[in-house]
Amino acid sequence: MSDLTPILILNAKILTMDPDKPRAEAVYAEGGKIVGVGSNAEMQALAKPDAKVIDAKGNTLIPGFSENHLHLFSGAAELDHLHLAGVHGFEALKQAAIAYAATRPDGTVLYGQGADYTILGDDERVTRHHLDAILPDRPFAIFAHDHHTAWANTKALELSGLLQGKDLGPGNEVVMGEDGLANGELREMEAFGPLQIASGFDRYRLGLMGLEPDPYPDQAELEVDIAVMRRGLAYCAEHGFTSLQCMDGNLYQLQLLAEIERRDGFLPCRVQIPFHLKNFMPLSELDRASQMHEKYNSDFLSSGLVKMFYDGVLDSWTAIMVEPYANKPDSTGGASLFTPDEMKAAAIEIDRRGLQIAVHAIGDGAVRAVLDGYEAAVKANGKRDSRHRVEHIEVIHPDDIHRFAELGVLASMQPPHPPGAMGLPLEPTVSMIGRDRWAYSYAWRTLKEAGAHIPFASDWPVSPIDPLHGIQAAVTRKKWAESDPDQRFTLEEAIAAYTIEGAYAEFAEDRKGMIRKGYFADLTLLDQSIEDVSSGDIHVIRPATVICGGRVTFAA
Ligand SMILES: [Zn+2]
Repeated sequence: MSDLTPILILNAKILTMDPDKPRAEAVYAEGGKIVGVGSNAEMQALAKPDAKVIDAKGNTLIPGFSENHLHLFSGAAELDHLHLAGVHGFEALKQAAIAYAATRPDGTVLYGQGADYTILGDDERVTRHHLDAILPDRPFAIFAHDHHTAWANTKALELSGLLQGKDLGPGNEVVMGEDGLANGELREMEAFGPLQIASGFDRYRLGLMGLEPDPYPDQAELEVDIAVMRRGLAYCAEHGFTSLQCMDGNLYQLQLLAEIERRDGFLPCRVQIPFHLKNFMPLSELDRASQMHEKYNSDFLSSGLVKMFYDGVLDSWTAIMVEPYANKPDSTGGASLFTPDEMKAAAIEIDRRGLQIAVHAIGDGAVRAVLDGYEAAVKANGKRDSRHRVEHIEVIHPDDIHRFAELGVLASMQPPHPPGAMGLPLEPTVSMIGRDRWAYSYAWRTLKEAGAHIPFASDWPVSPIDPLHGIQAAVTRKKWAESDPDQRFTLEEAIAAYTIEGAYAEFAEDRKGMIRKGYFADLTLLDQSIEDVSSGDIHVIRPATVICGGRVTFAA
């Protein structure tokens, strides 16, 4: 699977994403680059006799998918956790958990992932007592699909020293019950971090903490982590990806990837790993971000991005809103993780270093504060092609829509995230947002029409990684009320958001994201013609052959 034999793909319906030549039927690649794009006859004339020929049989060929916001290392580590997407009701949760526990007789903590906030029903929030009724004798915790809330049973709370509660930094909370003990709900990563540490899951979360493993893993742990990373890369390749923009990371993750590249001679996906800046760090810690950027800047492994969190999520009322939550009129989301002034200072310093910034901002108040930070950076350092990003933008204030294009800021959005998409429940989220803000929620098209670049992503493992699911969610997006604006993307726009817009986000639109002569041979051949499949069935389409840098990284 690893050789660089020239590749000739014939009989394809090629969507090149190249405005100069949007369609073709054949492509020829040599030495990891695209040599020609055109008709079967033209490419056959170009191809060397030893080229590997792939007959696309009339199916769609597109540039390799770019996953523009994911958590590769932790997502890979979670692949063998209990998966709860689609599980609803106490009995279903109980059955799934007990069956899973039987397969893991010696796991320290049993983890479930992907739970809806309403997994027990619309009016019942999970507590430790529910989980105790399922697994009383073993530490057991389940995570909300968004990874911002966990619910732990009593054993797990005891193991992590959280049963009596714990004071945490702003935006994080161990929720207490009326009996004076933790009720099991752990909001945000400083709340469930102690549990992950106690269960040996620590190395996979350090990338969200801006920390390096200390002590450095021994050889056996290193081999475990290399295997985890390899599994994650293979999982991404299998889903059609050739480029990955990770949204957590550290030097350690870069080292693991570099070691895989050294051992195998190649990486199956191009990976960008950010430095994660936390609110407790002095800005001098950004030296580490600059060092990561200097050391890793190849076409396959790069850094140069600083990730931050400004707020939490709607479903736990930790997203920062301009006006109060519709279902909690006394709250606009509590304390943000950075103050507006800290955000400005950080943006100025990161921008001054020539690094790119990506900030998680879900509520309209958070989005505004991050844009204010980027504006402050322009004022302090002068205007440059910085391509700073805001991640998620689940709600935007109408006054801020035009600022993305003006500041050259990218709106990084996730089609699988809106309530109602991909089987997610509408409640409680739509009632939290409130009718007046529905028109400005997950407003992809509104932002696009205002001139913003919009790379799409899954935020895996927050949502399933499958880009075809994501494309389906983007083209079938339903309004919550008839008078809301239509936020759907066309098929071509959705594919662009997973290809060329991703390349743009990495300053790489001159070499990837399109099928064009001279560009990287990063190609995803689908097993159907995507334009001929009804929009509700796009998720059935699978990658047939995935090629990254001229190497076949997945073949069905
Ligand atoms: Zn994320």
